[in-house]
Amino acid sequence: MTDASAVTAWKKCSTCKKDIPFRALYYTCSVSTCKNAKLGIVFCSVLCWDGHLGFARHRSAYAEEESAPAS
Ligand SMILES: [Zn+2]
Ligand SMILES: [Zn+2]
Repeated sequence: MTDASAVTAWKKCSTCKKDIPFRALYYTCSVSTCKNAKLGIVFCSVLCWDGHLGFARHRSAYAEEESAPAS
Protein backbone atom coordinates (compact mmCIF):
# COMPACT_ATOMS: atom_id res chain seq x y z
CA MET A 1 0.00 0.00 0.00
CA THR A 2 1.98 2.96 -1.26
CA ASP A 3 -0.93 5.18 -2.23
CA ALA A 4 0.10 8.65 -1.07
CA SER A 5 -3.48 9.88 -0.96
CA ALA A 6 -4.25 7.36 1.78
CA VAL A 7 -1.74 9.16 3.98
CA THR A 8 -2.60 12.77 3.26
CA ALA A 9 -6.37 12.56 3.05
CA TRP A 10 -8.63 12.80 6.06
CA LYS A 11 -11.81 11.55 4.38
CA LYS A 12 -13.28 11.27 0.93
CA CYS A 13 -16.10 13.38 -0.41
CA SER A 14 -19.32 11.35 -0.36
CA THR A 15 -20.31 12.63 -3.79
CA CYS A 16 -17.21 12.89 -5.99
CA LYS A 17 -14.86 10.68 -3.89
CA LYS A 18 -12.19 13.33 -3.99
CA ASP A 19 -9.83 13.42 -1.03
CA ILE A 20 -10.49 15.92 1.71
CA PRO A 21 -7.09 16.76 3.20
CA PHE A 22 -6.37 17.41 6.85
CA ARG A 23 -7.05 21.03 7.90
CA ALA A 24 -9.16 21.57 4.78
CA LEU A 25 -12.61 23.10 4.82
CA TYR A 26 -15.38 20.63 4.14
CA TYR A 27 -19.15 20.60 4.30
CA THR A 28 -21.69 18.47 6.07
CA CYS A 29 -25.42 18.14 5.53
CA SER A 30 -27.48 19.84 8.23
CA VAL A 31 -30.03 17.00 8.34
CA SER A 32 -29.42 14.96 11.49
CA THR A 33 -29.69 11.55 9.83
CA CYS A 34 -26.87 12.56 7.49
CA LYS A 35 -24.77 14.14 10.21
CA ASN A 36 -25.09 11.12 12.47
CA ALA A 37 -24.55 8.55 9.74
CA LYS A 38 -21.95 5.99 10.72
CA LEU A 39 -20.25 6.39 7.35
CA GLY A 40 -19.62 10.05 8.03
CA ILE A 41 -21.17 11.90 5.13
CA VAL A 42 -18.90 14.79 4.16
CA PHE A 43 -18.53 16.93 1.06
CA CYS A 44 -15.57 18.74 -0.47
CA SER A 45 -17.71 21.61 -1.76
CA VAL A 46 -21.20 23.04 -1.64
CA LEU A 47 -21.67 21.75 -5.19
CA CYS A 48 -21.13 18.18 -4.03
CA TRP A 49 -23.53 18.70 -1.15
CA ASP A 50 -25.99 19.99 -3.73
CA GLY A 51 -25.56 16.74 -5.66
CA HIS A 52 -26.33 14.82 -2.46
CA LEU A 53 -29.68 16.60 -2.23
CA GLY A 54 -30.68 14.94 -5.50
CA PHE A 55 -30.43 11.55 -3.75
CA ALA A 56 -31.55 12.45 -0.27
CA ARG A 57 -34.60 14.53 -1.16
CA HIS A 58 -34.46 16.57 2.01
CA ARG A 59 -37.26 19.03 2.57
CA SER A 60 -35.04 21.68 4.02
CA ALA A 61 -31.35 21.39 4.47
CA TYR A 62 -28.27 23.51 4.33
CA ALA A 63 -24.58 22.85 4.07
CA GLU A 64 -22.53 23.42 7.20
CA GLU A 65 -18.95 24.49 6.82
CA GLU A 66 -16.47 22.63 8.99
CA SER A 67 -12.74 22.22 9.06
CA ALA A 68 -10.99 18.90 9.06
CA PRO A 69 -8.78 18.00 12.03
CA ALA A 70 -5.05 18.60 11.80
CA SER A 71 -4.21 14.92 12.09
ZN1 LIG B 1 -16.79 16.40 -3.79
ZN1 LIG C 1 -28.32 15.02 3.74
